[in-house]
Amino acid sequence: MFSLSPVEFRNSGIAGRGVFARRHFRPGDFVVAYAPRQRKVEAGSPEAAAAAETKLTLLSEKWSVIIPDTSVPGGWLCNHSCNPNSAIFSDGEGRIQCTRSILPGEEVTIFYGWVTQNEPQRDPCHCGSRGCRGFINFDLGDEDARNVEGDSEASERIRRRLAEYGEFLQSIGQEQVGETIATTLLGMTSRLLSERSS
Ligand SMILES: [Zn+2]
Repeated sequence: MFSLSPVEFRNSGIAGRGVFARRHFRPGDFVVAYAPRQRKVEAGSPEAAAAAETKLTLLSEKWSVIIPDTSVPGGWLCNHSCNPNSAIFSDGEGRIQCTRSILPGEEVTIFYGWVTQNEPQRDPCHCGSRGCRGFINFDLGDEDARNVEGDSEASERIRRRLAEYGEFLQSIGQEQVGETIATTLLGMTSRLLSERSS
């Protein structure tokens, strides 16, 4: 039967089910709603914290968290790519928007921007793009947090890693992930300081 749906949801070579274009999308085009059926709960509520385990929640406008109803497919099924053709916007109901021309049949991908702590191998990446980084997550270890300000060789190493990742983020238009990294580093540094003083 003929369907006008601009995307379809089917198995992906990257992981699980993915989102695939059924027509040509141009940069700036709306591709698909993040979660056609969803609930919004208050950020910081126990419900939001529990749902965060699924890694599918979306912080919307700083005070509410979108929890997708996963019985209905939507943009929440988008796989990560190290060279994505779309981006996720979390304002309002949340949406996937095209950033680079997508041809019919192509998988719609976004950049997750996960920042982990002391779990360097947590999320292996199978996006298959030429510049694949091997892992979805960018990991910060306690050693990194301890050394980021110093002038040791380790300090030089973490600063170089941060600078390289910053350049990479800029090259794919995902500079906002840098903010998450800075916030995470700040949190780790103050945790380490309080551990030392107690
Ligand atoms: Zn990759």
